[in-house]
Amino acid sequence: MNIAVLALQGAFIEHRKKLDDLKVSNFEIRHLSDLEKPFDGLILPGGESTVMGKLLKELGLFEPLLKMIKGGLPVMGTCAGLILLAENIDKESGHFKTMPVTIARNAYGRQLGSFDVKSNFADKKNVPMVFIRAPSILKVGDKTEILSQHDGAITAAKYKNQLGITFHPELTEDLTIHKYFMDMIKK
Ligand code: GLN
Repeated sequence: MNIAVLALQGAFIEHRKKLDDLKVSNFEIRHLSDLEKPFDGLILPGGESTVMGKLLKELGLFEPLLKMIKGGLPVMGTCAGLILLAENIDKESGHFKTMPVTIARNAYGRQLGSFDVKSNFADKKNVPMVFIRAPSILKVGDKTEILSQHDGAITAAKYKNQLGITFHPELTEDLTIHKYFMDMIKK
């Protein structure tokens, strides 16, 4: 298995470390030529979605990646990465718009910009979650499975080949979310 990690901006190194911990080979996507290598899954990291969206277009990566995601490539978007996938963003136009969820950016306000909790994810309990200026999933569409909720907000969801997480699983010591994504790819 080989996983591509979008490495234009944000927390991509930490995702690569998690994949290394799981002994899964991985590489960075920075240029169009990086898409020539075969890969089985894609991680869109957290960072700043507006910047990543702009860079994706400038580097010519947007259309080919959109085609791959629409074609069924397993993809995990964390925080800003989820914002890139979301079909609807409150008061803004979106990016790939492949995942039927409605998102509010910076949903926790300035005071609560960053915090960590332990919460449930799928059938796992006490999964550590780090939120950094996180979005919230306000609504999910048909066939979208809710995997995690915290304080009345949806914090993780899955739609077909797409896994959307509002927090940063790569900034904890825990491997639950990355393992879940690997299992999704194997299925
Ligand atoms: N607030 C960022 C955005 O809107 C996301 C924050 C993050 O990825 N940690 O893109």
